[in-house]
Amino acid sequence: MQINKQPLEYEEKLDSRPIEQVQLLVIHCTELPDLTTARTYGEKILYPSGTGNSGHFYIDRDGSIEQWVKPEKIAHHVKGHNKQSIGVELVNTGRYPDWLNSNNQEPDEAYPDEQIDQLIALINHLHRTIPSLNHITGHEDLDQSRVTASNDPAIKVRRKIDPGPLFPWQYITQKTQLINIGSTAKKYE
Ligand SMILES: [Zn+2]
Repeated sequence: MQINKQPLEYEEKLDSRPIEQVQLLVIHCTELPDLTTARTYGEKILYPSGTGNSGHFYIDRDGSIEQWVKPEKIAHHVKGHNKQSIGVELVNTGRYPDWLNSNNQEPDEAYPDEQIDQLIALINHLHRTIPSLNHITGHEDLDQSRVTASNDPAIKVRRKIDPGPLFPWQYITQKTQLINIGSTAKKYE
């Protein structure tokens, strides 16, 4: 399994955890045009601890995998569920650049086979190496909040929709052994 380690500059400043605390894998998509743009967002310092928001792993459209945060560190990738989870981000345009426009809520970029096959390989690798990891879900299942649309104050849209309707959940379920727990994941923070 080829994983290209590209630690974020603030990786060591993130809180540590015993690896047995990791139970849940959360699937995201970047909703950005490319990996370089995602990196720029990931590197931004947003908290007094000198850290920001990012997943642990990023999979590009060609299937290449980068690790930005090691699994023993708690990354900020999903509200309320960071402590026990690993975030995997797929590069995909999603609703970019008009995320909250009510007329732009149906992403149309499919996930290429190379990207999905590498995601399956990564899931199986993590499942083998982290015995406590048994559950999987999508960011959209854990964050179902609605916010005011950018184009019309009378309309509410989903804050998070990743990985979205084009993500092949059924295929992932067939090829991996993690249990999809949807929105029932327990909150730890
Ligand atoms: Zn997400």
